[in-house]
Amino acid sequence: MDCLFCAIIEGKIPSTKVYEDDCVLAFKDINPNAPVHVLVVPKTHIESVDCVNEDNVDFVAKVMLAIPKVAKVCGLENGYRVITNVGEDGGQTVKHIHFHILGGEKLPVKLA
Ligand code: AMP
Ligand code: ZN
Repeated sequence: MDCLFCAIIEGKIPSTKVYEDDCVLAFKDINPNAPVHVLVVPKTHIESVDCVNEDNVDFVAKVMLAIPKVAKVCGLENGYRVITNVGEDGGQTVKHIHFHILGGEKLPVKLA
């Protein structure tokens, strides 16, 4: 399987790590859309929210538990936005579930 984020998790492609535990890795987005833009991923390959099931949901839960820790490490005490894109219409470009953490300023454009 050819997956960019699995390669990052395995250390085959470099990243700027901001948080790591047994189940989760967080690293800086290479093309940031805000002063802080970090991606939080489970260390197992799940394509998107559309592919979460009873067998893999614990990995996603671990990501949810990590997100406030990532935000704290990044100094986002004034708030932040969590985004996950799903599939073609959602604009997902990397097919390994990931949660964008955006902050460090009052964020523009609120779609939801
Ligand atoms: P999405 O469009 O929701 O699938 O998000 C994919 C994100 O991955 C984009 O924001 C990209 O800038 C980011 N990205 C792509 N390649 C890398 C990389 N090698 N290291 C860090 N972030 C990356
Ligand atoms: Zn993957």
